Amino acid sequence: MSEPKPLTRNQTLVLDTLSAEHAPLSAYDILDRLREEGLKAPLQVYRALETLTERGLAHRLESLNAFVACAGDDCHRSGVIGFAICEKCGSVAEFSDFVLRQRLEGWADRQGFHPHETTIEMRGMCAACSVAA
Ligand SMILES: [Zn+2]
Ligand SMILES: [Zn+2]
Repeated sequence: MSEPKPLTRNQTLVLDTLSAEHAPLSAYDILDRLREEGLKAPLQVYRALETLTERGLAHRLESLNAFVACAGDDCHRSGVIGFAICEKCGSVAEFSDFVLRQRLEGWADRQGFHPHETTIEMRGMCAACSVAA
C-alpha cells in the first residue's frame, strides 16, 4: 500500500471551495470563485475535479452536473453513495447505505452486470424547507 500522493495546489483549492459550500457547485462556479487564486481555464478545474472524485474526496451529482465535497471519510468505500437534493434551498445531504448496497450488488450479480459506480440521487424537499412550507 502506497500513501496517496499529496494534493496539488489546484486540487486543494478546488476541494476547499467545495468544502466551504453547502450546495453543489458546477465547474464554472468553482472557476469563478478561484479566479483570484490564478485559475483561468476550465480544464484546470476539470482536471482537479477528476482527481478529487477518483479519490473519493468529492462527488459528482449527475442530475445537476455539479460537484460536492465528500461528507464522510469512508462513504466511498461503502460502494453505494446516496444524495438527497433539496430542490428548494439546494442543500445536499450525503449518505451511504449498506443494505441498499447489498441489494444492488445482489441484483447485479444475478444479472451478471459489473457496476463501475453506483450513485443514488433523491430529489425533493429537506426537513428545514418542509417545516417552512
Ligand atoms: Zn462521500
Ligand atoms: Zn431545503
